[in-house]
Formats: sequence, structure tokens, C-alpha cells
Amino acid sequence: MTASSKFIKVEAGKQFGGRYVKILNVSTRIHITGLKQTELESLAAEMGEPKYRAVQVFKAIHERRLNSFGEISDLPKKFRSRLEESADISRLTVDAKYVSTDGTRRYLMKTSDGYPVEAVFIPSENRDTICFSSQSGCPLKCDFCLTAKLGLLRNLTSGEIVEQVITVLNDVYGIGGETPHGTNLVGMGAGEPFLNFANLVNALEIMSSENGLFIVPNRVTISTAGIVPQIYEFAKLENRPHLAISLSAPTDEMRNKLMPINKRWDLGELMTAAKEFEGSLRRGERFTFEYVMLGGVNDADSDARELASLLERFQLSRVKINLIPHNGAEQLDYSTSTPERVERFKKTLESRGVSAYVRQPRGSDIYAACGQLAAMDVKA
Ligand code: SAH
Repeated sequence: MTASSKFIKVEAGKQFGGRYVKILNVSTRIHITGLKQTELESLAAEMGEPKYRAVQVFKAIHERRLNSFGEISDLPKKFRSRLEESADISRLTVDAKYVSTDGTRRYLMKTSDGYPVEAVFIPSENRDTICFSSQSGCPLKCDFCLTAKLGLLRNLTSGEIVEQVITVLNDVYGIGGETPHGTNLVGMGAGEPFLNFANLVNALEIMSSENGLFIVPNRVTISTAGIVPQIYEFAKLENRPHLAISLSAPTDEMRNKLMPINKRWDLGELMTAAKEFEGSLRRGERFTFEYVMLGGVNDADSDARELASLLERFQLSRVKINLIPHNGAEQLDYSTSTPERVERFKKTLESRGVSAYVRQPRGSDIYAACGQLAAMDVKA
């Protein structure tokens, strides 16, 4: 990041004798990557530049995925230096990158004020997926999740959310390189996206732009631990991505222990919101409940039956269950369910007419799998 300087008058500045002093003023700089095209147009207008110049800058950042104003060589010099004085394209640094034996890549990044941010690239035959974080750390205390151990460090800005995706794309495909398989996005990294709702929605809008990354909402899935008011808000969004809700328990008693957020909004409230959300589904669309499989805790046949009954009680029919075998870590007290148990659980759900899928863990050798993002360093 280029340090900006700003001159301020030190009022009654005895020790400076009232002189102007040059100070480092990081906070007033704009992270331009977090501006929508319309916002960039206003910024350009303030700098006396026409609209098409803003479009040019937006495209340079999001479509050509350039990292610095210096590389936007088709901008007038004056405008470029105004931008350099007042704004940053890049505010994240990549501290480490880990590559799994299965091709998954985990990026451990840092904000300019030193907070960890993680993003994961998950290749697959037909389509690649990028998993981004919405917060540094997480305030929710899900008992089986490693990120929870960090607590909340801070919300990420829209620019920091978008920049994670740009950074991953540039690393995988080269700066500005085409994305041969297209890209799916999942908001399933560190943090609770619905506790950073405004920044999230803003970032998604930026990333969907035709002049930029052009990752449309239909390619995006956001996962929530169950922040009920935001589920209602999300359902109302005009261009809404897909939704996943982390459930992991069929009863309040069990869910209170595993996911304390359940004490704030219990299963009755969560399922009522889910039912309302179901009403917003488009033709052929379904939504997902994620269920982390914890050996001997929530993986009995009776749990599967209770889960099916819960869905029946709330008449939820356009749902699928993603079973996620627990990814372990030394700091976590849980073990994963055996593959046979997972299969039985799945079959029990299916026998009750509920679609269930098993999510294969990806990148668990480098702490990149679900629930493992806790800024962990691993040996190369
Ligand atoms: N806070 C949001 C976004 C995180 S998504 C949410 O909870 O939905 C990450 C997913 O991984 C969630 O479904 C979460 O329940 C699951 N998860 C957390 N810890 C895990 C672990 N150790 N193993 C497998 N899945 C885990």
C-alpha cells in the first residue's frame, strides 16, 4: 500500500508552533475495489473526470484485475496521480499460500491493519469454486468449528471481500486471465456473512457486474448459521444468491449446545424463516441445510428421523441436506462420523423423501476444509 500524506493544521499547536505537519493518514484513503461503478463515477466526477473514465477504472480493477493504478496506462497522467494520492486498489497482502494434494489452495492474507483473512480455491472438473470470508475471525461459538476459537476480529469491508476473489483468480489464472471453467462463489469461509450484511450485499453487487468479474448471483451461495432477521432480508433481495443454512442438529436441546446462536433464534424461529425463504425460490431452485456430522453426537438414525420430521413439521419440501463429515483439529473435541454412518444417515433421510448429499472434504491436509479456517500456519 502506498502511504498517503495529508497536510493538517495543528490548531494552537504549541509543540509544533502552529505549523502545518505532514501526517500519515491511512484511514481517509479509499479502497477503490469496494466501490460500485456508480460510486466510482461520482468519485471521478469529483475529480473533474467524465463517466467513461470511471468505467475504464472499474474495468481495469475488476475485469482486467490490475493491482495498481500505474498499470492502467490508458488513463490520463493527472487522473492517475489523483487516484494514487487518494485511493488503493489493493489492501490485502498474501502472507502464505498452501496447496493441498487434491489441488485445493488456501490463501492466508492480511488486511492493511494486520487481521487475518482466508480464501480457498477448490478446483473441480466442471467448475471451480472460490470460498471467501466475510469476517476476520467469527463471533459465533459453534462448538465444532476452529474459526470460532479466534472470536470476532472485525468485519471485512466490501473491498476486502471482493479483493479476496480477485487475488485468488489472479493467482490461479494469471492477472486478468480468463476463467476457463467459470467460477462459483461460496460465502462459507471465516465469519458469519449475515452479521456483515451490508458489506456482503455490496460486494456481491460489485462482483456481479458485467464490466467486472461478472459472477452472477446464480453462481453464488451464502451460508448462514441462522441469523433469522437477515434470512428475511435476504429473501427480499432482487438479485438474490442461493442460500445455505447451517443446521447440524434436529432439536433445540442439541443445537443449543453445538451452535449457541440457537439460544438467540431457536429452531422454531429458524424454520419459520426458512419456510418464508422457500417462498422466494425461483423455478427449479432449492436451498440447502448443512449438517456437520459429529461421531456419536448428532449422527444416529434417530437424529436423521428427527431431522426429517422437523422438515415435515414446517412443510419444507424444496430443500436438500448437505452432510459434512466433521473436519477435525487438535483444538476440537469432536470426531468425524464413519463413512458407513454418514451413508446410513443419508439413506434414512432419503427413505423419508429428503434429498441428501455428502460433501467430500477438500483441502483438509492444509486446513482449508469447512470449519478449519483459523489462520493456521502449516509446514510446506
Ligand atoms: N458462519 C456461516 C458461514 C460458515 S460456512 C455458517 O455457519 O454457515 C462453514 C460451514 O462449515 C458451516 O456449515 C459450518 O457449520 C461448517 N463447519 C464448521 N466447522 C466444521 C468442521 N470442523 N468440520 C466440518 N464442517 C464444519
